[in-house]
Amino acid sequence: MSELTENAIRPDDMMKESDRLHAIDLQWLLARQERFVEVACPACERREPTPLWNKGGFRYDRCGACRTGYLNPRPLPETLDEYYRLAENYNFWEKHVFPASEGPRREQIARPRVQRVVELCSEKGVGGGILVEVGAGYGTFCEEIARTGRFSRVIAIEPTPSMAQACRNRGLEVLETPIEQVTMEQELADVIVSFEVIEHLFSPRDFLRSCAKLLKPGGLLALTCPSVDGFDVVTLGAVSQVVDPEHLNYFHPSSLSLLYQRCGFEVVELRTPGRLDAEIVRKRTLAGLHDLSGHPFLEQVLLRDWERVGGAFQDFLAANLLSSHMWIAGRKR
Ligand SMILES: [Zn+2]
Repeated sequence: MSELTENAIRPDDMMKESDRLHAIDLQWLLARQERFVEVACPACERREPTPLWNKGGFRYDRCGACRTGYLNPRPLPETLDEYYRLAENYNFWEKHVFPASEGPRREQIARPRVQRVVELCSEKGVGGGILVEVGAGYGTFCEEIARTGRFSRVIAIEPTPSMAQACRNRGLEVLETPIEQVTMEQELADVIVSFEVIEHLFSPRDFLRSCAKLLKPGGLLALTCPSVDGFDVVTLGAVSQVVDPEHLNYFHPSSLSLLYQRCGFEVVELRTPGRLDAEIVRKRTLAGLHDLSGHPFLEQVLLRDWERVGGAFQDFLAANLLSSHMWIAGRKR
C-alpha cells in the first residue's frame, strides 16, 4: 500500500475552488445566525461553556466539565438540512474531487475501514446480516463492503442529493434522508458504520440513540470523527481546517466514550489511527499559515528532521490517542 498523503485525497489544485465555494456556503449559514440556538455540551449535557475559538464570525465553546468543544450557538436541524441540500461545495466534491481522488480513497481509506469492520465483526461474533452506513457520501465504502459478501444486505443512508445519486449510480440501496428521520424497522441492523458524520450533527445524542434503536442487541456501531485533542487541532487551533462551522461537535476519546455509554453502548474499541496530523501541520507551516518559531522542538521534528523522524512521530501520535482522527466502536447493550 502506498503512503497516504493529503494531496492524494484532497488534491491541492482543487482545494482553492473548494475553499471558495465553501466560503460562499458559509455566508448563507452566517446570514441565518439569528436563528441559531444555544445548546448544552453534546457529550455530558452540562452547561458550563468557556470560550474556545472564534473564527469567521462563528463561536466555539469548550465544556468546562468534560472539555468537549462545540459550536455554540448553532443552526437548528432544519437549517442544516437546507444547508446541505444547497451547498455548492458538495456538488463540486461529487463532480470533481471525489472522482479525481477515488483511487487513493478506495485503497487507503475505504479498504482499511472495510478490513477493520470485518475483523471487528469476526472478533465479536457479529455479521452476516444487515450493514447500514449513515452518511455514505460517494458510496465507496458501501461498494467495497458489499463486495466482501459478508453481509446479506448493505444500506446507504445519504441525505445530500448529489451524493445519494452517486450511491444509486453504483447500484447501492439508498435511503435519501437524515438518520433522525429514518423510518425503518427497529432492531434491524447487525452493524452500523458512520464516517465523519457525527461532528456535523445538531444532536449527537439523538443520533446515537437512533442508531441504538436500529441495531439488534449486541450489534456494533463503528464511527470516525475528529478529536479535539489531536496533534494538528491542538497545534493549529482555530487555523486548523477541522475548525469549521460544518463541524458542530469536537469530541475527544474520553468524551465520545462517555456519550457512547450514555446512549446504550459498551465501548469495544477506541483508537486514533490518523496518518496525516504531522504532515498537515508541516504543510500549513511551510505555506506560511502557521508559525512554529516559538516551538523549536516541533521545528526540528516537522521541518529539519522530517525525512528521518516524521513517520515515526506520526506513528507515536496514532498509537497514543493523540491523532485528530478518531475511531470508536461500541456494542449495543
Ligand atoms: Zn461536557
